[in-house]
Amino acid sequence: MASHDLIVVGAGIVGAACAEAAAGEGLRVALVEPGPIGGGSTAAAMGHLVAMDDDPAELALSAYSLRLWERYAELKDAEFSRCGTLWVARDDRELAAVPAKIARLAAAGVHAEPVDAQRLYQLEPQLRPGLAGGMRVPGEAVVYPPRMARHLVGVACSAGATLYAGRRVVGLLPHGALLDDGQQLSGPVLVASGVALPELLPELPLRPRKGQLAITDRYPGLVHHQLLELGYADSAHGDADSSVAFNVQPRPTGQILIGSSRQFGAADRGLSLPLLRQMLQRAFEFLPVLRELQAIRVWSGLRPATPDGRPYLGAVPGRRDVWVAAGHEGLGVTTALGSARLLVDGLLGRTAAIDPAPYAPGRVPAGAAA
Ligand SMILES: Cc1cc2nc3c(=O)[nH]c(=O)nc-3n(C[C@H](O)[C@H](O)[C@H](O)COP(=O)(O)OP(=O)(O)OC[C@H]3O[C@@H](n4cnc5c(N)ncnc54)[C@H](O)[C@@H]3O)c2cc1C
Repeated sequence: MASHDLIVVGAGIVGAACAEAAAGEGLRVALVEPGPIGGGSTAAAMGHLVAMDDDPAELALSAYSLRLWERYAELKDAEFSRCGTLWVARDDRELAAVPAKIARLAAAGVHAEPVDAQRLYQLEPQLRPGLAGGMRVPGEAVVYPPRMARHLVGVACSAGATLYAGRRVVGLLPHGALLDDGQQLSGPVLVASGVALPELLPELPLRPRKGQLAITDRYPGLVHHQLLELGYADSAHGDADSSVAFNVQPRPTGQILIGSSRQFGAADRGLSLPLLRQMLQRAFEFLPVLRELQAIRVWSGLRPATPDGRPYLGAVPGRRDVWVAAGHEGLGVTTALGSARLLVDGLLGRTAAIDPAPYAPGRVPAGAAA
């Protein structure tokens, strides 16, 4: 039986980052992935690296992770583009929330600046007239997530990790994992299987939250920042069965990526045309020029959502030698690097850079509804 110091289940951006961090510490890592590397939720994502400030734990993890992403700012494989984020206020009420947001971000080490209406249109002339202003976070960026996952797996393998490609973990053993070809791997297991988490750890509540995106042909220079409406967090953190928010991204190719929708109760990846229409309508309201552009592709993906929106990071209560890094909902690309560091620090018994308690898997009572 092959023996490892850590068996990572799943090579999405989270599993890939964990494998890279663990292999970098000299651990003998196995990484098991049945499909393409980064082919799950990671491939469907927008790849916006963003600090979300409405939950202190999410802010701590995203701010920590943004600092770790700086290491990859020059990496070609990451397709890192520091476009910055521009949060748009529709009216004075939304604009009034900006100073408190700037203060919360500053306390976490993320620089943001207020934007008045005049500056808003200097920054993004295509926005519809009549908006109140907003907030700019100049250091934030976008990456290409599946490519970054492949890069991290490559680094892990160069540091000695073994990739079990095309293999699936079908069961957890007392001290290891059983693969679908009957092979057994021995060692502590880290489950990083995204929305498939309940197949191996049914006691950790998690449900898929579908998102749809559309991408246009190439229109370089039309939009400069990742644009979001300030009401975005209401959609991201609300419990509504379905919601949409204005969220538009300039890809380094000149394409414009249009999001985003959130939908519970749909475990398949089929498109919902009414929701897609609603999402595009929302985008047109803020950025009317989009109506004139050619969309070339639409797709959907599933966000792995926990009941409180925070990921599970750490040892799984009641199971020996089983760890988890999953449930990153709509922020897993941003927070993969910080998650991996927290996880590996926990494995090695080290003090982590941020408090790991808010992400402890045991915080959610077993059997709680996702
Ligand atoms: C539409 C959309 C937009 C998004 N935009 C952003 C964004 O802009 N910024 C951001 O930070 N986040 C974003 N996200 C969220 C982000 O994509 C996810 O949080 C993140 O990709 C989760 O990564 P993961 O590695 O946990 O899961 P996945 O990428 O799904 O990886 C899990 C892997 O585990 C494998 N697996 C499953 N079961 C097994 C098994 N039994 N054995 C072995 N392997 C297994 C799967 O094949 C898969 O490759 C978005 C998500 C969606 C859907």
